[in-house]
Formats: sequence, C-alpha cells, structure tokens
Amino acid sequence: MAKAMARDDFSKDTVTKLAERVGFLCSNPACRTHTVGPNSEQTKSTRIGKGAHITAASIGGPRYDANLTPKQRCHISNGIWLCANCADLIDKDENTFSTTVLVSWKSRAELEMHKELKGEASNHRKQFADFLISRMSTKKSKRQIDEEDEEIATLLRNEIDFHKKWEEQFKHVSLETFSINSKRCRYIEHRYNPNKPFWPTNDTGSVTYGPNSGPITVYGLPFKSWVEAKRYGEVLRQTRNHMSFNENSIHTIYFERQESKAPNYPIFYFAIRNDSAHQIILKSVQTEVYEIIPLLAIGQSQTLEPLEEYEIKIPPTRDKTEKYLVPSIKIAQNDSAAFGLRVVPMTGLMGGYEWLMKFKLLLSGDICLYSDYFIIIM
Ligand SMILES: [Zn+2]
Repeated sequence: MAKAMARDDFSKDTVTKLAERVGFLCSNPACRTHTVGPNSEQTKSTRIGKGAHITAASIGGPRYDANLTPKQRCHISNGIWLCANCADLIDKDENTFSTTVLVSWKSRAELEMHKELKGEASNHRKQFADFLISRMSTKKSKRQIDEEDEEIATLLRNEIDFHKKWEEQFKHVSLETFSINSKRCRYIEHRYNPNKPFWPTNDTGSVTYGPNSGPITVYGLPFKSWVEAKRYGEVLRQTRNHMSFNENSIHTIYFERQESKAPNYPIFYFAIRNDSAHQIILKSVQTEVYEIIPLLAIGQSQTLEPLEEYEIKIPPTRDKTEKYLVPSIKIAQNDSAAFGLRVVPMTGLMGGYEWLMKFKLLLSGDICLYSDYFIIIM
C-alpha cells in the first residue's frame, strides 16, 4: 500500500491571491506569459498557471526547508505564480532556480504589477526589444538611427531606474547592533564621536616626574600636582574622543580590555534587522583580515531570543577566507535576529596587541552588511 505523503498545499484562496497579485502573468522574468484566457465554451475561462511552492510542500521536494512549519509551508509567502511550463522547469533544476531566485522573481513581478496598477508602467523592456528588432530588419538614415539611439538610451535609463527601485527593498536590512557583550566579558567600548574634538596632539604619552612637589608633565602639559593632573585627565576623557582616534584613523570603535589576565576572549553581539519584504538568510561571516570559523550549529531565529553564541577562531594570518554558517540563520520580514560571537585568536600573543578588524555578514539576495572598522586589545 502506498504511504500517503503529507503535503502542505496552498488553499484555493491563496492560489487565487498569488495569481491576482501578478495580474495572472507568469512571474518568471524571461517568460511573463499570460496564464488566463477565454475557453471555447462561452461560460468558462482557461487557466494555465500554477501556484508553485518556493520551498517544497513535502519532504524530498525541490528546495524543501525542514525548518518551516506546515503553516509556513502553505502560507502565501511560500508561493509564486508561474505558467505551467515554468512551474515544471523550476522543479527540475533547483540549483538554478534557488529559493533566492524565486523570491526575487516574485517580488519583481509583484512590483511590476504594482507599478502597472498605479499607472507607472512604461513597458520599456518590450519597447526596447521592439526597437532592436526593427533596427535589425529595416534600413534607416543616420538621423533616424541617432534619434532612435536617444530613445534607446532613455529606455535603458528607465530599466536601470526600475532595477534600482527593486533593489531598494533589500536596503531595508541593517546591522541593528554591533557591540561587545559587556555582561559576558569585560571590555570598555569607545566609539568615535564626530562632535567631540580629538585627543590633544601635544600629548605624546610621555610623563615626567618632578621632585616631591615639583612640576609634573603629563598629557603634554605641566602641572603643579598629581591631583591637578588627574583632574585635567578626567576632563579630557569626558570631553574628547579616545586617544586612539585621529583624523587619519579608519576605525571608529576601540575596545579596551579591562581584564588584565589573558585570555579574556571578546564576545561580540550582533543583531540584524530585516525590514525588507522578504525573509532573508544570514549565510556567512567574514573578517577583513582574519578567517572566522563558527564551530557550533546555528539555530533558527525568529526573534531576538534565544541568543545563540558561536565560537570562532582567527588565525594570525591575513588571508581573507569566507566561512559558511551551517545551518544559516533565518530572519523573517519585520524581524530581528541576534547572535553572539566569541573571538578566539589562535595565537599566544594575547594582551598588549591591538587588532584592526572588520566583520562582513553575507546574506541571501546578495546583501552584505559590514561592521565598522574597530581596534581591539585581546
Ligand atoms: Zn512561464
């Protein structure tokens, strides 16, 4: 007896909504065929479209995502409207037609239809194609060609504008927080403040001691007593940027280690905010200078809790190596995901060394988020 496979199919209403949202046109940008029309019988219409699953409805299907609940699997966000041919096509080659690709098709098709509804559609792509065909097939004077070139340039500009607007959606992904988890390790964070002046340049760091009550030179200035010097130092720290910053520095954060005993591995806290129209996936972490390897499995995130923490080891080399997080962190739309990162330098050179670093977070949809440059004493 054949075992019934659980399938999380879309409801009839969901399928209709999927189709309506793209005006019953296939969402594949290379196809865009009509999927609904008249039937030979006067009282009927014919549909050749399908509400296809972005990630499969059942185990073993294309792009199946085990992390989704049945409810999420049959939710409209997991569907895309395609003509029968394209619906077949995407299930035969899930490497080419990845989740990311399908999500981008869907958002693009919906955006085009949205423009159409608002009367903004210029149909420039079709016009452009028609132009090229007409140019190839007919002889024209130079003046005609010049005029057409101008028109083609306009069409191309429109096309570029269109893509920019589409890409706008992915700009709503941001690194909400990037800091040291001060509850887990003792560091003081100094952030560059453009409203504060730099540390005085005449402070070379040298200190000269006078006799018992003689003049003291510190912070580049002479003082009559230590009490006076300390008071001045306190004022400097409150009113100036940290002494590590100057007008040429590229780093904007300075993490000062408070624990004198090594090792005191820093634990970073990252929170990524997703205000785009789609779920995104944090795939990997990179450093500007050192390799980062997450050693623990990464769980699914739907909210800021629970906070997963991963340990990474960075060798003291300048290779830029990308490491994938497995499995990746999912961030639903209008949601944030947070994770901790314990940085363990694979070197005995702890303490007294300043590491200039930068994190790069790679997300689905070709989105990259960068931390600021920072210096850390490890
Ligand atoms: Zn199609």
